[in-house]
Amino acid sequence: MQSNNTSKPCTSWGNKPYHSLDYENKKQYGQKVYKLSLNAGLTCPNRDGTIDKRGCIFCSEGGSGDFAGSSLCSITEQIKSQQALLSSKVRSCLYIGYFQAFTNTYGQISTLKAIYHEALAHKDIIGLSVATRPDCLSEEVLALLKECNQKKPITIELGLQTIHEETATFIRRGYPLSCFADAVRKLNALQIPIVVHLIVGLPFETKEMFLASIDYLNYLPIQGIKLSMLHILKGTDLHTFYEQSPFPLLSQEEYMDYITCAIRRLRPDIVIHRITGDGPKALLVAPLWTSNKKNVLNQLHHHFKITNSYQGMDYIP
Ligand code: SF4
Repeated sequence: MQSNNTSKPCTSWGNKPYHSLDYENKKQYGQKVYKLSLNAGLTCPNRDGTIDKRGCIFCSEGGSGDFAGSSLCSITEQIKSQQALLSSKVRSCLYIGYFQAFTNTYGQISTLKAIYHEALAHKDIIGLSVATRPDCLSEEVLALLKECNQKKPITIELGLQTIHEETATFIRRGYPLSCFADAVRKLNALQIPIVVHLIVGLPFETKEMFLASIDYLNYLPIQGIKLSMLHILKGTDLHTFYEQSPFPLLSQEEYMDYITCAIRRLRPDIVIHRITGDGPKALLVAPLWTSNKKNVLNQLHHHFKITNSYQGMDYIP
């Protein structure tokens, strides 16, 4: 789906050609807001045997939360230690508590209530971001999220990764697309903002398949998106598969092309929380170019500039 729209962006997002989270936070709070990655010590139905014991094929031992705090510490202690880690570069004191590792709506409702409330009660925490799966949003959980959202803003992050069922089966995501659509509908009815994760360069996915995932999201009431290159991490089943049956990974140039095309066709109001991610260096096997996040971001911004690209220019409502 492409338009011939060559006009200038009708919306300004500061110095970036896309609607970044940083821009949105500064607009809303008047200053930079930082995320503190927290580990609630929960697990995941895709790992505890409820759906599967192996987890998603790319998921690390840390449950895709390798930068989160230690689950041996209380939420308040984790907030304090994560603040200390940021202290050299942080000039504001506004923080989002980010429940990142594993599935953060998967547990006893009393446990979930305790951890959310502890984080929300902290004076420096202005809201929560809760990473989870769409099949872990029971009526009880939704009621708790609604209650918490009335205290301070809550955002739910859903790891969709792809809309294509054959890829979802290969990566062992463990739920169908219809489950995701249902979760979006329920969260939207509660006015809880949704951020969707997509992985770029999944095995056997073409550029057209990746862009089809963007097109699909454009027509859903979601508020944010996180894009990141597929990382092959040590100790994952994806690493074993890659060693046994190497498959082509995107080069940095190809990644820039995929991302630029995706942002050009992305709905302008969707906030971009991430356009590149850096996996934990000690675990990263490939592609190694992703480890230099600053360089990837600089190259991406340059690519936007030389191609005169901006968010939504190819979006057709
Ligand atoms: S849903 Fe998340 S925590 Fe669970 S296996 Fe997949 S990536 Fe890991």
